[in-house]
Amino acid sequence: FNVPKAVNEPVKGYAPGSPEKEELLATYKAMFNSNIDVPMHINGEEVRTGNTKNITPPHDHKHVVGQYHTADKSHVDAAISTALAAREAWSSVSWMERAAIFLKAAELLAGPYRARMNAATMIAQSKNVYQAEIDAACEMIDFFRFNVEYMTDIFKDQPTSSPGVWNRVEYRPLEGFIYAISPFNFTSIAANLPASAALMGNVVVWKPSDHQAYSAQVIVDLFKEAGLPDGVINVVYGDPVMISDTVLASPDFSGLHFTGSTHVFKELWKQIGNNIHTYKTYPRIVGETGGKDFIWVHNSSNPLQVATAMTRGAFEYQGQKCSAASRSYIPASLWPEIKQHLTAQVGELKMGSPEDTNNFINAVIHEGSFDKIASYIDAAKADKDAEIIIGGNHDKSVGYFIEPTVIVTKSPKYATMHTELFGPVMTVYVYEDAEWEASLKLVDETSEYALTGAIFSRDRYIVEQASKALENAAGNFYINDKPSGAVVGQQPFGGARASGTNDKAGSAQNLLRWTSVRLIKETL
Ligand code: GLU
Repeated sequence: FNVPKAVNEPVKGYAPGSPEKEELLATYKAMFNSNIDVPMHINGEEVRTGNTKNITPPHDHKHVVGQYHTADKSHVDAAISTALAAREAWSSVSWMERAAIFLKAAELLAGPYRARMNAATMIAQSKNVYQAEIDAACEMIDFFRFNVEYMTDIFKDQPTSSPGVWNRVEYRPLEGFIYAISPFNFTSIAANLPASAALMGNVVVWKPSDHQAYSAQVIVDLFKEAGLPDGVINVVYGDPVMISDTVLASPDFSGLHFTGSTHVFKELWKQIGNNIHTYKTYPRIVGETGGKDFIWVHNSSNPLQVATAMTRGAFEYQGQKCSAASRSYIPASLWPEIKQHLTAQVGELKMGSPEDTNNFINAVIHEGSFDKIASYIDAAKADKDAEIIIGGNHDKSVGYFIEPTVIVTKSPKYATMHTELFGPVMTVYVYEDAEWEASLKLVDETSEYALTGAIFSRDRYIVEQASKALENAAGNFYINDKPSGAVVGQQPFGGARASGTNDKAGSAQNLLRWTSVRLIKETL
């Protein structure tokens, strides 16, 4: 079990004039004008169906950077049979060789693939350079490195034996194949969903988000160069309903590794339930879904620290993180000062294309998302229960741009206090200082989700009370920090209630879901 000790990949600074910045911007330009043709990947072969859709940057949606090919049912069937055909060989590859492939992928990404992975993420997912770097480079590298270490931790867990009797367990891949469905918002999560299952010896049918096809192609190239055998991870794009119907109808479906919306996850779960008699084995279901993540503030906290956490927690990547802070509960005595810092900070955020690295805010992912977020902002403009204190403008003529917007409401149950918008909107409810305990109850009751949350206080007693009152309200609970930006190896990530199965991405607990244990008792 002698594997390299996992360490977090350092975040590069991309300072003006630095070689890494020059390389990244040159790569960005070339990729922006590349007219890339993204195939599907079945059995290591590039599959082009001619049924294509355009890849367009959200911040410049009339510009076509390329296209990706989409599946019909026969391609999904082929992806499944290919995965199953690859299973025997892959599951007999030694764990050390599997580990070496993903460790190699980590090193390739730390070096020659870094600029491409970041640029693809900036172009097609509209992330600024820092948000791309912490995701598409660092977090993905960390997932590969730490998962290898966690795998060996798992293997070390063995039953006791006695003289003459040797008990041991084998951590076998599941019998069948894994279905990975990944979201647009994190390139690292997209890679980790198929990769963590494959690391444990499983074969995979992977459906990336169509909006992430560009960086998914870079991930496929990375895995190939790292030595992943053909057929272990097969990639299909296209109609999600048709793809899921086909995959979930297979008797060999043995696990779902999902990050995406609560609605879709529940529908898939229902479908798996309906098909349960047809499967050879009970499928593992692992999902990370929505969030309506809170910041709760006590009057014993530091107003500037709170305002900074609100700005970064709510508006990094345009609020398109499941972990983004989108509702805040602020004591009346601190609100004037917090409001002043908050509006000053938000007012400084520049918006535009990620190619200009001064832009903190880029576009939201697509028109449907833009329209939904804009409609809630416009409703707030007209609602007597809401007041927009900064932002509120939106314009989709060139890109799907929405200003970072702060709504203040007198009603703790106002629509944007509990509806997940997945966009740059923070809603604030101001409570009377003396009612801090009741406000904690509101935090707990207001949302169906329980992904992340943050509390702010410099008083240990209050921290303890709030931690207790909110013990089921967030799977990732932050004290005096913003609720997003979990780092692999430091803050394993996931939540319960409508936010998922809380199997913590980037943990041994998650990897355990992708093994089926055989106990062997040998009498010697
Ligand atoms: N792990 C990310 C974070 O802590 C969020 C992941 C997601 O949006 O799904 O910010």
